[in-house]
Amino acid sequence: MSSFDVIIVGGGLVGGSIAFQLAAEKLRVAVLDRNVPGREASWAAAGMLSPGPDSSEASALVPLAKESLRLYPEFIAAIEQASNKSTDFTRNGTFEMFRGPEAENARDKMVAQFHHLGLAAAAMSPNEARKHEPSLGPQAGAIAWLPEEATVDPRRLVEAVLAAAKQRGTEIRANCPVDALLYEGNACVGVLAGGEKIAAQQVVVAAGSFCGTISDRAHEVGSHPQLRQYAPVHPVRGQMLALRSLTVQLKKVLRSQYGYLVPRRDGRIIAGSTLEDAGFVKQVTPQGVRQILDAALELAPALVDAKIVEEWSGLRPGTPDLLPIIGPSDIAGLWLATGHYRNGILLAPATAMIMRDWIVTGKSNFNAESFSPLRFTAAKSHAQANRGASGA
Ligand SMILES: Cc1cc2nc3c(=O)[nH]c(=O)nc-3n(C[C@H](O)[C@H](O)[C@H](O)COP(=O)(O)OP(=O)(O)OC[C@H]3O[C@@H](n4cnc5c(N)ncnc54)[C@H](O)[C@@H]3O)c2cc1C
Repeated sequence: MSSFDVIIVGGGLVGGSIAFQLAAEKLRVAVLDRNVPGREASWAAAGMLSPGPDSSEASALVPLAKESLRLYPEFIAAIEQASNKSTDFTRNGTFEMFRGPEAENARDKMVAQFHHLGLAAAAMSPNEARKHEPSLGPQAGAIAWLPEEATVDPRRLVEAVLAAAKQRGTEIRANCPVDALLYEGNACVGVLAGGEKIAAQQVVVAAGSFCGTISDRAHEVGSHPQLRQYAPVHPVRGQMLALRSLTVQLKKVLRSQYGYLVPRRDGRIIAGSTLEDAGFVKQVTPQGVRQILDAALELAPALVDAKIVEEWSGLRPGTPDLLPIIGPSDIAGLWLATGHYRNGILLAPATAMIMRDWIVTGKSNFNAESFSPLRFTAAKSHAQANRGASGA
């Protein structure tokens, strides 16, 4: 039976980033992916690194989002150096567009909220914004300028992260579906993958939207809560389009409450997205395309004759409270890093840092209590008392 210090279930950006950090600690790490690693949500994303909340519930995410954005340049430098690949990390800021008679009020409210949360934001007139992005449409009634926001090409990033983790000694297995977790007593001791038992001191479940499809199998003693109790994750579909235009060249992200346009370095403009409860069906629909194009053409009407060069959809790992699930369970050796919903590209560096600290030292300096996998389980208080014991 093969054996590792840490098995990571899922080779998306979250799993790959955790592997990259743990491999630097000289741990023997394996990333197991049921398909080609990096081809699920992390491949489908727009790549905006936007720490501002998109709803009142999301305010609890802001400290983690700010920390992750702070870590990004250092994270990118380490990944690019180890992988020798570019990730197209770019910090050109975002114009958030408001329309209608209440545009300025809504913009001012957002700017005030951002300041309250310690995020940079400034009011700007649409004419001023057009000096930087001439394609900005006439419906813009007010603009919030968000100078700290950045973008990355998530497909390049996830490929680079996996290459960097491998370069540090991580074993990455494709086409290796984890069917079950293995337990001995009150400890998770490995996984069953494609009929093979693989042992590990620590198992990190980072399977994105698919965590619920992994079953728990108790060996020897005792029964354990189902994985779903720690990670009640559900898929939230997002459709996307890539456009190429001879007339519109963007440098900054343009966004409204209806959609966004994200420039890529190769000249493509990524237009998104929908938020749909469609199960695990990845599909692009006429309704989704219409919704994306309506928002895109309002932001930049000159895109009307752009070429649609690609269409795709992906599944965001959503959670009941819209917050990610990061940290130890109350079973020794079982960790969760999932549920990053709309922000997994942004949150990968901080998630990886927190997981590394916990697994290596048994604690994290970042207060991630709100993201605990135990918040969904009845055993929460008991487990919190035992938490210190679960670090390796
Ligand atoms: C349309 C869209 C736009 C987005 N835009 C942004 C954005 O602009 N900014 C941002 O920060 N975030 C964005 N996101 C969210 C972001 O993509 C996700 O939060 C993030 O990619 C989640 O990463 P992950 O590694 O947890 O999941 P995934 O990338 O989905 O990876 C999970 C991996 O687990 C594997 N797996 C599943 N089950 C098993 C199993 N049983 N055994 C082994 N492996 C398994 C899968 O094959 C997959 O490779 C967007 C998402 C979508 C869909």
